[in-house]
Amino acid sequence: MGIPVRLHWTFLLVVLYIAWAFASFSQQVLGRTYGLGSIEPASLRWTYSLVFAVVLFACVALHELGHSYIARKNGINIHSITLYFFGGVSALEEIPRNPRLELQMAFAGPAVSGVIGSVSLILASLLGEGSAVAIMLWTLGLMNIILMIFNLIPAFPMDGGRLLRAWFATRMPYVKATRNAASIGKMFAILMFVLGLFSFNFILLFVAFFVYVGASE
Ligand code: ZN
Repeated sequence: MGIPVRLHWTFLLVVLYIAWAFASFSQQVLGRTYGLGSIEPASLRWTYSLVFAVVLFACVALHELGHSYIARKNGINIHSITLYFFGGVSALEEIPRNPRLELQMAFAGPAVSGVIGSVSLILASLLGEGSAVAIMLWTLGLMNIILMIFNLIPAFPMDGGRLLRAWFATRMPYVKATRNAASIGKMFAILMFVLGLFSFNFILLFVAFFVYVGASE
């Protein structure tokens, strides 16, 4: 689509962290293996984990390109997409002041994650349980479904928060709709922060920080 996709330097650290995290556990989810920890020998486990981490970020890039595709189609210019440690950020020329367009744009990313997730889960189900490829596809599928659900949390500036603002904007001025969505976003950020603190979940703490700063801006 002619949109430059950039990698933030933190990306390298995170690919290694994600590979390590997924190589370190294995559990049963819905009757199939989630996590790459049971793949033997270790060299194969690490190779698959690294590939998994890179493919997962490719899925994040595709999620962002889902937003970009709808934006492009409606004449909005996308300067670039940058992949950070927890996801992607698209630099748009201007934010659409059109609730219908914003609804479509915000929904496109989670829709892409949902489709990738479903296809991966179906492919994994077709393969025999226990093979390294099946484990990787099942884990990838679940992660994409989690990405979809997580992004749909109504915490502005996340996708779900943008959907909420677009819905508000159909019944009040845009500035008021944005303020309301941002206030709800901050409430969710505080909730995520508390949950992250009690569960020692650092990713959740980072996302809470990101949502709070984003909503404040
Ligand atoms: Zn998104």
